[in-house]
Amino acid sequence: VDLRWSPEHEAFRREARAWLAHHRPAWAAGRRVDGRLGDEDDETWALRRDWHRRMGEAGWLTLRWPAEYGGRGLGVAADVIWNEECARLGVPEPVNPAGLRLLAPVLLRFGSDDQRRRFLPGIATADCIWCQGFSEPDAGSDLASLRTRAVRDGGDLVITGRKVWTTLAERGDWMFALVRTDPHALRHRGISFVLLDLRQPGVEIRPIRQLGGGHGFAEVILDGARTPVANVVGDVNGGWTVAAAALEHERGSAGLANYVRFRRIFADLRQIVGDDPGAQHALARSLVDIEVFRANVLRSLSAVLRDEPPGPEASVTKLFWSEWYRDATDLALEVLGPAGRTFCAGERDWLVEYLDARAGTIYAGTSEIQRNVLAERVLGLPRESG
Ligand SMILES: Cc1cc2nc3c(=O)[nH]c(=O)nc-3n(C[C@H](O)[C@H](O)[C@H](O)COP(=O)(O)OP(=O)(O)OC[C@H]3O[C@@H](n4cnc5c(N)ncnc54)[C@H](O)[C@@H]3O)c2cc1C
Repeated sequence: VDLRWSPEHEAFRREARAWLAHHRPAWAAGRRVDGRLGDEDDETWALRRDWHRRMGEAGWLTLRWPAEYGGRGLGVAADVIWNEECARLGVPEPVNPAGLRLLAPVLLRFGSDDQRRRFLPGIATADCIWCQGFSEPDAGSDLASLRTRAVRDGGDLVITGRKVWTTLAERGDWMFALVRTDPHALRHRGISFVLLDLRQPGVEIRPIRQLGGGHGFAEVILDGARTPVANVVGDVNGGWTVAAAALEHERGSAGLANYVRFRRIFADLRQIVGDDPGAQHALARSLVDIEVFRANVLRSLSAVLRDEPPGPEASVTKLFWSEWYRDATDLALEVLGPAGRTFCAGERDWLVEYLDARAGTIYAGTSEIQRNVLAERVLGLPRESG
């Protein structure tokens, strides 16, 4: 990997920096804007959605999309630089992450031309908020055991089942979901990847209240919900391949921007640790781990620079960022003692972050599952039985 940026990249960085300096939202100053999406009040949501729209309309969220779909056709480096600049300033993240990071790459790779033209613009502008409908009450880590069924009725699929832990479902417009279209096929073979309008009879959203008080995710009950067969992405019964690609993007997408964000968190951590002798070792360890994370991200970037999909190695990135963040918030609460056990307003609430950080080791595949992926698909160790 060549670690230096080219003059073109540096010029692009200046362009991004200038745009952000001029357009960064004043309302975000002093507010906590990196909390879990969907937990915020309606006013903050509206402001964040508007900020997303402004970034989208200016083309910053679609840097890598081909020009024919409204993108700038740039390489992955542009995306990395843009995200670094956003993280450096701490501007709010886009509100349509499932659409941008999971569905858009999947549509560009597997979608029909019609699907791309219909759905990509709304992802970029946040006019259509997307949710990910993969998990079910008895299908989380073992996703292939999902039971939500879709039965053909003329040109439609009629869908019945339950999805759970669906982030942003209350604010969502559409969901991409995995459904079983052939109950007789082998587990991985009878699944399809469908796009489904959430605003229709036959869809009920039941919010789930969390430990930190928010309700950013929900259960989605599907009882005869309909979607045209034309909304299947990839082949009918071929959804597993599409889902696997989406998961790789989900795991690999938190790259160098997270590095910059973590350095900001580390700076705050260092302030509260001060010269507490008991915590110096853990603090040093935390810094070393961030640098190891950066090296790993740069290594996996070289595959993406060759235009290859992230691959199972994306699990390394996922493991690193989720466990680093969890350990950093553990350390903060340990150092703060009883003072860290109360919620506080302001830019960084360590208790909220401590609670949020647990979630990072679960969503997009738990740490145990990432280790299984690495063991079996990268290191070639024997597959687990059962
Ligand atoms: C904040 C948050 C947001 C989420 N958002 C979404 C969303 O938008 N859409 C969506 O579809 N899902 C979402 N999820 C769900 C998430 O993908 C699942 O929680 C996750 O896949 C784990 O599944 P599970 O909860 O059913 O746990 P289980 O699969 O039941 O696992 C329970 C425990 O057993 C361990 N375990 C399971 N199998 C193995 C194995 N083979 N080897 C070793 N250990 C194992 C797990 O690591 C875990 O510790 C979200 C979850 C969280 C926490």
